[in-house]
Amino acid sequence: MLQRPPLIVGNWKMHKTISEAKELVQQLTRVLGDDLARIPITVLAPPFTALSAVAQEIKGHPYLLGAQNLYWEDQGAFTGEVSGPMLRDLGCRYVIVGHSERRRYFAETDVMVGKKAAAALRHELRPIVCIGETWDQRLGGQTKHVLSLQLTEALAGIGKDQAQDVVVAYEPVWAIGSGRAATCEQADEVHRHVRTHLLALWGQDAGTLVPILYGGSVMPENIGALLAIPDVDGALVGGACLDPVLFAKILRIGAVP
Ligand code: PEP
Repeated sequence: MLQRPPLIVGNWKMHKTISEAKELVQQLTRVLGDDLARIPITVLAPPFTALSAVAQEIKGHPYLLGAQNLYWEDQGAFTGEVSGPMLRDLGCRYVIVGHSERRRYFAETDVMVGKKAAAALRHELRPIVCIGETWDQRLGGQTKHVLSLQLTEALAGIGKDQAQDVVVAYEPVWAIGSGRAATCEQADEVHRHVRTHLLALWGQDAGTLVPILYGGSVMPENIGALLAIPDVDGALVGGACLDPVLFAKILRIGAVP
């Protein structure tokens, strides 16, 4: 058994009505055909409105369900928010927290991301904690510093005993939706840095178990080289996961040999 089996997450963002969502899962399954039995751990993260329909659609298939966000309180007067217990009830196993689009458009801070990650773990949801630097921060030589700060805040409330349920996703902001993925050298350098941070935080055993995903313009053309990097344990895929042919190719390449 691999210590960190490959994990591929499809972030559908704000796309797909219920009927379109069902159709996308059916198409993906059709395109994969017999290869469905060989896919890596695969999480589909549709919008909240389609979670229930996708949960039905994936029954009997090896996909897992994920959400794109949650609120840290379990219930109460928080209009418009969705809690961990609600997501668990829908069958979610994973939840993305701190995506750069939420940080940018909804003013999410590292402290908020930390509260969301802790809330997810309280309800047996694996948080996929997104971190990443802007292009200006990279140009200014700030990348590692920025990522360390993001990790420190986001993981502050999480103990070593919970580390095995945490997933970190390195998503350079400049690579998301831009068609300009990080080079393998850039990904390698950052993923090593993230691993070093996790080992320092939680120790050798627990820190080694945490998968570190790469996200940002992942395509069938670059996924193989990215996954060959020792500390790249999978991918968070945006645009390409909405195309069943492209996503199926990514899953085939990501399959454990
Ligand atoms: C994302 O939004 O998480 C993402 C990685 O998007 P894309 O693959 O489109 O760059």
